[in-house]
Amino acid sequence: MRSFHLSVVRSLVLAATLLVTLPGRAVVHETPKPVKNVILCISDGTSLATLSLARWYQRLTDAEKQNLLIDPYLCGTILTYCSDSPIGDSAPTTSTYMNGVPGLAGQVSTYPVLHGEADLLPYDSLWQRRPLVPLWQALRMEQGRKTGIVVTCEFPHATPADCTSSSYKRNKYSWIVPQMVHNQIDVLYGGGASLIKPEYRKYLEERGWSVFTDPGKAALDYQGERVWGLFAPMDMPFDIDRDPAVMPSLEEMTKSALRILDTNNDKGFVLMIEGSKVDWAAHANDPVGMATEFLGFDRAVKAAIDFAKKDGNTVVLMTADHGNSGISLGTDNLGHTYAETPASKLFGPITNIKLTATGLAERLIASPEEDIEQIWEEVTTRKLPADQLPIVRALRRYEVDSRSAATQPAEVRKKVQLSDYLSADLIDHLKSLYASSLAGYICRAYTDMTYIVFTTHGHTGEEVFLGCYHPDFEKRLIGFNTNLQLHDYLRTLTAMPQTMKELSDKYFAPHTEVFAGCKMTLKGDRAEDMVLTVKKGGHTYVIPAFSTLYTVDGKQRELPIATVYNDETKTLYLPRTL
Ligand SMILES: [Zn+2]
Repeated sequence: MRSFHLSVVRSLVLAATLLVTLPGRAVVHETPKPVKNVILCISDGTSLATLSLARWYQRLTDAEKQNLLIDPYLCGTILTYCSDSPIGDSAPTTSTYMNGVPGLAGQVSTYPVLHGEADLLPYDSLWQRRPLVPLWQALRMEQGRKTGIVVTCEFPHATPADCTSSSYKRNKYSWIVPQMVHNQIDVLYGGGASLIKPEYRKYLEERGWSVFTDPGKAALDYQGERVWGLFAPMDMPFDIDRDPAVMPSLEEMTKSALRILDTNNDKGFVLMIEGSKVDWAAHANDPVGMATEFLGFDRAVKAAIDFAKKDGNTVVLMTADHGNSGISLGTDNLGHTYAETPASKLFGPITNIKLTATGLAERLIASPEEDIEQIWEEVTTRKLPADQLPIVRALRRYEVDSRSAATQPAEVRKKVQLSDYLSADLIDHLKSLYASSLAGYICRAYTDMTYIVFTTHGHTGEEVFLGCYHPDFEKRLIGFNTNLQLHDYLRTLTAMPQTMKELSDKYFAPHTEVFAGCKMTLKGDRAEDMVLTVKKGGHTYVIPAFSTLYTVDGKQRELPIATVYNDETKTLYLPRTL
């Protein structure tokens, strides 16, 4: 462990020195010439074998396409981890790319809590649980760059939240959504239309945004400079499951975002594009979902690189945030024939499947029970084995009844239990496969058509792929790098001299320091309702949590970044300049 600490620290010191020293001279604060635009493409929860799966899947479905679009740009690996564990989690890993500090599982752009021996780096105990300014926000506030987010999950999900907000609990959308609304994201495309309250829409529209939450792709044709397009109530459908007439692809959203961000823009932009649901398919162990979602991400990356090549002053980085599923292309079932197994046998049967396991499960749930066999054959191009029909039928009924019960008032709600639908033997069997739902059962059926195996439904700790396009080939980030080095590279590209910790001290100072010596109260029933009232120099300040809006003697003013409240430290974090 010690040698790991030292080598990481040493390589960081080296990287920092290279940034600021010239041969034979003392340390100088040289500011390199920044590139105008930076595009960070993150395929969530993607092990290297997922790229191999997607590539073979594509070769078998289209012999003309032997390579992934990302292939010419692959140039290294990234070691990514949590503050206290080699296995990463979405919230802290992209946080690290954004702020240069490894985070704890479950935390969005927040300084970790110290965990002693388990900690992989030395951390500053005085900073525990403090919010950290994400680089995307720093570049907006310090350099006037535009910011963009394009995802297929709901917009406050971990990765997009990491770039635009701070919360020590990733699931607290009531803390994250108002920050994202207030933090001036020029272009935001993804899911989460149901999370837009009337006051959020009003805030955005009064400041020049157009907000699209109706079904359809109208937002993509928007001709202004600030837009939120939310295409589904929560997460968007998997790429292969979506109706292309009404639901945009990641590629389509990327092209539109690039067009809009580049309009009337002399200060440049930073854009994060996430293939959000590669990770979700990996958690489910759905090889069809993993391959097709990654191919959707691959097409979006190509759109970003095409823009960069045409622009001439844009860098595109491509990576993942952590591995997922322990996918292995090959199993013990092959015995000693593994090296004689053709691709058609290894992967072939799944290339004919027309929906992800979730897509097929939803179709079965929405259709009459008697259609199960016909739908199964139509989607998978294989007959459902007779001995499996009763299981699929029972799981479908269980899902339908569970959903119906969920709509009933709690006092009359019928308890729906899997044991009323399947024998104990089968439930045990399903549990052992983490497949207690219809979609989970279908994942297993898909996998059984192949010689792919998964070791886990969780994340894994190996390093992930790195790709880079830079108009100056010699300046690409290449080779083995840590998550911290990726952050440093982003700062070098954008000529951002301050660390995010320094900027966090400026923009997220504790209210007790900002208003030291003043009479103040901090009140609210819940963290999201917290309001700080301060008497200072004969004036009354009223400052709510998770907002840029505040008043001085009743007159409304705006902060450059939304305040962050932490209910454990009972502290409101806000700009020191107040
Ligand atoms: Zn992730």
